[in-house]
Amino acid sequence: RAKKQAPGGVAFYSEKEAREVLSRWRLTEELERACEQKEFVLFFQPRVDLFNRRISSFEALLRWRHPQKGIISPGKFISVLEDTGLITKVGRWVVKESALFLKKLLPKHSEISISFNVSMKQFQDNHLLKVLEETLREVSIPPEWLEVEITESLFFEAGAQASEILKNINNLGLKIAIDDFGTGYSSFAYLKKIPAESLKIDYSFVKGIPEDREDASVVMAIVAMARNLGKKIVAEGVERREQLAFLMGLGVDEVQGYYFARPMPGDQALSFLESFNPDRFFR
Ligand code: C2E
Ligand code: MG
Ligand code: MG
Ligand code: MG
Repeated sequence: RAKKQAPGGVAFYSEKEAREVLSRWRLTEELERACEQKEFVLFFQPRVDLFNRRISSFEALLRWRHPQKGIISPGKFISVLEDTGLITKVGRWVVKESALFLKKLLPKHSEISISFNVSMKQFQDNHLLKVLEETLREVSIPPEWLEVEITESLFFEAGAQASEILKNINNLGLKIAIDDFGTGYSSFAYLKKIPAESLKIDYSFVKGIPEDREDASVVMAIVAMARNLGKKIVAEGVERREQLAFLMGLGVDEVQGYYFARPMPGDQALSFLESFNPDRFFR
């Protein structure tokens, strides 16, 4: 993105732009190395079923274990993975790793699902569907305990093709959740067409409840609509007891957030599951 064109056809960048281009370029190089060196890890955050007061699933969240900088969150690098196409490689790894975690839980904990996030890019050329088929062949697990989290922007960007792919994913036996619900532009027409089992109310609306009247109204409206469409309702970003109480009052099915646990490495997630005492959280 050149700002000005010099007479000789040379592009000038502002200093700030040059720095950004450079750091993105460096990040790309580092991410390519990270793929080769297997520096990515999955953290898992529990989702709690409010009716049965049990852990019903874990969401797999990508982390980059940088040799010098330590653990880096996806907000810092997902967009670069997407722009460079590296996301297809990393995305495949995420799917397999999630399946392996499910497999690890299964002998002792058979009623817990694992959800993972996917990017728009992974939908191109039916890539995700192929990866899912491949994974189910390699790791024998019951597919109904795997859940794909997609954001609303997917319907917008991929349109009719997206709902076709989602139907295929659903036919494989996997569940589908709509993530960050309320922040995108999904129309009710799409919601009706897509075989999603659950809606995850975005963190930004959960943040202000119960005090903030606008947030409370939005959450109540989403819950009413989701219930009428027969979808399971999950609230993300629950940090305080008051938020939990409000959501329980509305009859929300499941919650996820720091109030219960932060995303954590697999072994820690497993011990959290095994020592989970609902009385500590529901009082
Ligand atoms: P998301 O799927 O909406 O995931 C929820 C995010 O909220 C996670 O951030 C989680 O750590 C954070 N969170 C959970 N509970 C709380 C809470 O109580 N308070 C607050 N403030 N935050 C909470 P994280 O792990 O940094 O991930 C950010 C986003 O990156 C995810 O949002 C998802 O869109 C994307 N992402 C993560 N892993 C993957 C992946 O494997 N593939 C793709 N394509 N995207 C991913
Ligand atoms: Mg998610
Ligand atoms: Mg979300
Ligand atoms: Mg979110």
